[in-house]
Amino acid sequence: MAAIDTDTALSIAAARRRLARQFSHAGLGTPDLDARILVGHALSLDHAALAAQADRRLTDEEADTIAVLARRRLDREPVARIVGAKEFWGLPLALNADTLVPRPETETVVETALAALGDTRGRALRIADLDTGSGALLLALLSELPAAHGVGTDISVAALACARANASALGLAGRASFVACDHGAALGGAALGGGFDLVVANPPYVASGDIAGLQPEVRDFDPRKALDGGRDGLAAYRAIAGDARRLLAPHGLLVLELGAGQLDAVRSLTAAARLAPAGACRNDLAGVPRALAVTVST
Ligand code: GLN
Repeated sequence: MAAIDTDTALSIAAARRRLARQFSHAGLGTPDLDARILVGHALSLDHAALAAQADRRLTDEEADTIAVLARRRLDREPVARIVGAKEFWGLPLALNADTLVPRPETETVVETALAALGDTRGRALRIADLDTGSGALLLALLSELPAAHGVGTDISVAALACARANASALGLAGRASFVACDHGAALGGAALGGGFDLVVANPPYVASGDIAGLQPEVRDFDPRKALDGGRDGLAAYRAIAGDARRLLAPHGLLVLELGAGQLDAVRSLTAAARLAPAGACRNDLAGVPRALAVTVST
């Protein structure tokens, strides 16, 4: 361990304050929170331990570790990527370079699906999560639906490895499987005697031309494949809506996350694919229409 120069070494509390100030000057949105998480991560201390040890002086080595993490954050790498994990629906999820950082607004998809399932929640439901990434939607749903089984798909094998590891860590691996394909392309559908009771997706929905204008945390660090929805941002919705009647059981539900301003366009796409609205579109906490549920109509 490096020697501590007690005259100049910062305390943990002072290091947090200094970092928060730097982050604030750099215009980051949540400087205090970011500073707390990164100092805690650098020192392997949780929130309570950080507070308990607030007056302890940092070693040179610890100060260096904090400085490296601070540099990454100042270069706009999201905190969740730096620590390699993000909480979603109360579940701790590991991330890697091929997975989107799960967003709080995506929890609206879980709420919508659970509400639409109503009193069928205890049944042995079959779920598909298209473009699963870290497994966020699938694992949140399996955690709420004790008798359900599900499959997550992704075009990235590395993302699937991350999702699979998350399923194991959460004790859900026995009810989750993972398949590499575009959306639902490799999944068996209703014609094979199955059909899914619930299909969810948070597909890439940013118009290719809008990606350059996204905030750096998203533009430079989320995988482009997880963002890029083609020229009008709707390419994945077209593919998913077009395949939904094949994938869904006769009573099955499809719940889609929407990008801001996409409700009318996605409603039209689903209607053209002979899918009927199942309840109202649900807004996220910022009031943006975020989760659309549709069902097979005859
Ligand atoms: N929610 C992401 C964003 O911040 C987009 C994710 C997606 O395309 N599904 O823009």
